[in-house]
Amino acid sequence: MRVVNVGKRYDAANGSLLALDAISFDVYDGEIISVIGPSGCGKTTLFNVMGGLVDDYTGEVLIDGRRRHTHRQIGMVFQEESNFPWRTTLENVAFPLEAMDIPRKDRIAKARHFIELVGLGGFENQYPDELSGGMRQRAALARALAFEPRILLMDEPFAALDAQTRLLIGDKVLALRQELRQTMLLVTHSLNEAVQLSDRVVVLTGRPGRVRRIIEIDLPRPRSSDIVGSARFANLVGAIWQDLRDEANAAMARSQTAS
Ligand code: ADP
Repeated sequence: MRVVNVGKRYDAANGSLLALDAISFDVYDGEIISVIGPSGCGKTTLFNVMGGLVDDYTGEVLIDGRRRHTHRQIGMVFQEESNFPWRTTLENVAFPLEAMDIPRKDRIAKARHFIELVGLGGFENQYPDELSGGMRQRAALARALAFEPRILLMDEPFAALDAQTRLLIGDKVLALRQELRQTMLLVTHSLNEAVQLSDRVVVLTGRPGRVRRIIEIDLPRPRSSDIVGSARFANLVGAIWQDLRDEANAAMARSQTAS
């Protein structure tokens, strides 16, 4: 996927608001990219543009050189709860496959496979309110994966979870990368999560969001949450934090001048 010179304006009370400006980067098959930046810098907007939920933007989002994408090419996982409360884990994960005219037997088999992959084997017949928050997000992840999207966009999928659960889910995401070679992009506020999971971290500036820096995370793979304690890990987190702190300070200074 190529994101080429993407810009996005919203209508606002006093004219228009530039949310994204000239964003360009490539996404390589099989990699995990984290997008990080100050609040309100346009991360969700960028994912909505990339996922095809917004179409009045400038620039281009290309997959294999084409602007038009099929639904199969991009999957999305959001922060909010997205499981149907009246469906079991199995029914929730199999649901999008119904729309693809996959025979029932194959739907069930596929759903079971992805439920196992995210570590929810044994919970197929539970309803969402019988699962923990972390398990529900893993069910949502399994549902997005069952669709077998070329690219999976995840907008703060683990934000509501406690730190320990996040680390453990991080391990699951790393296992998925190893096993499926699933291309994934993740919006996160957690520098640890970004470094733990990613091949590259795209740091955005404060609004309007522009690419400030793309940092290669050259930690060896396969990885697990064990690397969180290493010196190399701390250095990478430190480097991203410096960028982010500069942007957050600049954004604060701008808002003080404006008020
Ligand atoms: P982030 O995800 O980085 O916090 P968003 O993409 O949610 O940032 O928002 C970027 C900017 O665009 C913010 O200033 C936000 O208020 C504004 N914005 C987001 N969605 C809309 C919308 N539908 N209409 C008007 N302004 C919006």
